[in-house]
Amino acid sequence: MSIADNILYFDEQLRNTPCRLVAVSKTHSPEKIMEAYNAGHRLFGENKVQELVDKRDLLPHDIAWHLIGHLQRNKVKYIAQYIDTIQSVDSLKLLQEINKRAEQFARTLPINCMLQISIADEETKYGMTYDEAVALLQSEEYRKMNYVSITGVMGIATNTEDEQKLRQEFRYLRECFQNLKDTFFFASDYFNEISMGMTSDWQLAVAEGSTIIRVGSGIFGTRNYSK
Ligand SMILES: *Cc1c(COP(=O)(O)O)cnc(C)c1O
Repeated sequence: MSIADNILYFDEQLRNTPCRLVAVSKTHSPEKIMEAYNAGHRLFGENKVQELVDKRDLLPHDIAWHLIGHLQRNKVKYIAQYIDTIQSVDSLKLLQEINKRAEQFARTLPINCMLQISIADEETKYGMTYDEAVALLQSEEYRKMNYVSITGVMGIATNTEDEQKLRQEFRYLRECFQNLKDTFFFASDYFNEISMGMTSDWQLAVAEGSTIIRVGSGIFGTRNYSK
């Protein structure tokens, strides 16, 4: 199947669900991204700042970019002017930097941010615990921020084919979302996203309430190098 066919396939699969597709274009060329763009897709994800900056220059500016990889504070300034959503917010300090840079660029729209929660068992280097997310939202510093909007949570499940385990992790993320919503965002309709599910597990994630799936190889084919 071509990239365009894959986009149409996902459009069809997600029709009548509350779920949207972030097409993860990391390692793939602007030409390949344009194939998805020409099939009507406008929502893309990258995991590295430099790669995003390089590609964005070459591509139409009505693309909404989501950063989905770990973000170092000193790189926020390179994307703060135009980034739609940063899915990988994993500390208060990072969020403060995002807010500061968005303010410097005098953005008319806040930067959408999602709290990355660690849901896989061990090795995952990034992401907060639920309690850390709570502490962030309770902080004075967070309350003073005017240039970020927290739109939901993001999680990366364990790389496994164990369906029960994947479901447990997705359910846990959904619970985290619901608890945060009930505690901090009950009056805020912008807090409504659960980003979970990738090429190998997106169907389970949608069944468990995902609102954003992040699919790379399932659209663009296998990557030559993976990160
Ligand atoms: C690469 C990546 C994806 C997409 O992975 P695929 O298995 O190619 O669909 C999703 N989320 C994150 C955070 C990624 O880094």
